Amino acid sequence: MLTNTTNTVILYTMINKTVYGYCPICHVECVDIDRNPFGDYTCANGHTYKYSASVSSLIAKSTEPFNPKYWINIDGKQFPNEEAMVAHLLNEDAAFVNTRKYVCPTNNKVQPSTIVVFIGLNDIFAPAADADEINNLPNMFRLYELKGHDGIIEHYALKRGYRPQNRVVENMKNRNNWTPELEKLPTAKEYHESIT
Ligand SMILES: [Zn+2]
Repeated sequence: MLTNTTNTVILYTMINKTVYGYCPICHVECVDIDRNPFGDYTCANGHTYKYSASVSSLIAKSTEPFNPKYWINIDGKQFPNEEAMVAHLLNEDAAFVNTRKYVCPTNNKVQPSTIVVFIGLNDIFAPAADADEINNLPNMFRLYELKGHDGIIEHYALKRGYRPQNRVVENMKNRNNWTPELEKLPTAKEYHESIT
């Protein structure tokens, strides 16, 4: 993390630890994490890195250079320019802000209203009206840069463990953005029946 604002801390407390991502150096899967948001991640080849530097499967497969507008090079390593990324997503109407109550982890004080950034997922999954917190900033923004809204849908489908609506699946297939990883996912109906 380049900044340590209150908002940054909130976003990090919401990190979904089920999506570990890939090594920014060699692009193989993360195999070990410290159970704390600021701890080290370790890949199968033994590289260690911070969570903010881990990359998604799409980045791991990508041969494109990182866009310097959104990624800052410090000592040969890429770090996300989070403010530029948030500005981009808000400007593209992919993200919106709302407020939530927030318990500060350092002093346990409750802040009645803190700004949180959400990704709009209306008409993507069932139920149709839906949104999700941005909880994995670097991966999210790189996904968005690479594949637009389909990248965001992929991220959330893998995180949730089920497919988006059929219409969305068909559209992604037509755009060649439907991946083998997504193909393995159950439908929302199958998923919800399997957990009840
Ligand atoms: Zn590695």
